[in-house]
Amino acid sequence: MELLKQKIREVGVVLSDEVIKLDAILNHAVDPALTTAMGQEFAKLFREEGVTKIVTIESSGIPIAFAAAQELNVPLVFARRKKTLNTDTETYCERVPSFTKGMVTDIMVSKEFLNETDRVVLIDDFIANGDAARGLIRIIRRSGATLLGVGIAVEKSFQAGGRTIRESGVRVESLVKISSLANGQIQFE
Ligand code: 5GP
Repeated sequence: MELLKQKIREVGVVLSDEVIKLDAILNHAVDPALTTAMGQEFAKLFREEGVTKIVTIESSGIPIAFAAAQELNVPLVFARRKKTLNTDTETYCERVPSFTKGMVTDIMVSKEFLNETDRVVLIDDFIANGDAARGLIRIIRRSGATLLGVGIAVEKSFQAGGRTIRESGVRVESLVKISSLANGQIQFE
């Protein structure tokens, strides 16, 4: 997605060979026009699949997932992060390592909002090692819902997440792929 690449070039701050800060558009502030355009791209990719629900993880996935849900006219459900593993029988809960925070967090979705009648697209801001997406995929599978695919705004393709999830047979669509952040330079695939 050319517009997203342009914005990343404008506002992206390379923090290390592995991490890019995109606070201005994804992780601290929201550009409504860009977010709407990202939602339209996701909707275009998955429109023919009979999507009934968009699922994401709080908090940075919510604006882009909302934009996609709005475009597809389906509800959005966001997994919530909990400090302690919730043993509540009314929720699906999974423990995932957090790439940026260097700790584990527990994500949970109430059984009320996901079930076997759902046809789901998972949307998130970044994919790095893929732990967040895999955790949410486990929740979606446990609910009996059909996973149609994963939509990611920024895939860092020099990390293994996107590739390994594709290899497991899940459709993964990224709006942009960053192939390297070495030497402070953003390289797109
Ligand atoms: P993963 O679980 O795929 O290793 O990491 C995905 C999560 O970590 C994303 O939801 C995102 O919040 C965060 N993340 C991973 N890499 C980056 C990065 O380079 N920049 C920012 N801002 N967040 C990242």
